[in-house]
Amino acid sequence: MTPGPSAPLGRALRARGLRLTPQRERVLAVVRRLGHATPDDVLAALRAEGGTPAVDTSTVYRALALLEELGLVARTPLDRRADSFHPVEHGGHLHLVCDGCGAVAEAPARAAGDLAADVLRRTGFAADVTHLALRGRCAACRTTTPEPPERP
Ligand SMILES: [Zn+2]
Ligand SMILES: [Zn+2]
Repeated sequence: MTPGPSAPLGRALRARGLRLTPQRERVLAVVRRLGHATPDDVLAALRAEGGTPAVDTSTVYRALALLEELGLVARTPLDRRADSFHPVEHGGHLHLVCDGCGAVAEAPARAAGDLAADVLRRTGFAADVTHLALRGRCAACRTTTPEPPERP
C-alpha cells in the first residue's frame, strides 16, 4: 500500500516551519481522491464528508495554493471558470477539453512529446507537457455543429 497522505505533506510543511492542519490534510486527501478538482469541487466534497473543523472557500483556496507551492498538487485549466488541481503524481496524460460541450477526454502524454521536442529544438524552451489541457472540439460536436461558434 502507498503511505498515507500525511507523511510527505507533514515533512514538506515542517521544512517550511508550517503545521499540518487538519484542513490542509483534508484538502490534499480530497484532491487525491477526486483526481482533478476545482476549489468548488473540493469544498463540496469536504462539506459532503461533514466533520470538523468546518471549512470555507478561503480556507480551501489558501490550502490549495500552499499545497501547490509545496509541489504536492499542480493546476491545469480544465474548466473556463476555475483551474483544476490534481496530485502531482497524477500527470501521465493530456486532457482534451471540448469548447462545445465541455467534455474532458484524456490522451496519452506521449501525444505531446513531438510538440515538446519541436518547441525545444526551435526555441530552447522546455515545455512541461505532463498534464496539459488542449482546447478544441470533440468528435461529437464536430459532427453535430460543423461550424465552430465565435470565440469570445
Ligand atoms: Zn488529469
Ligand atoms: Zn463536445
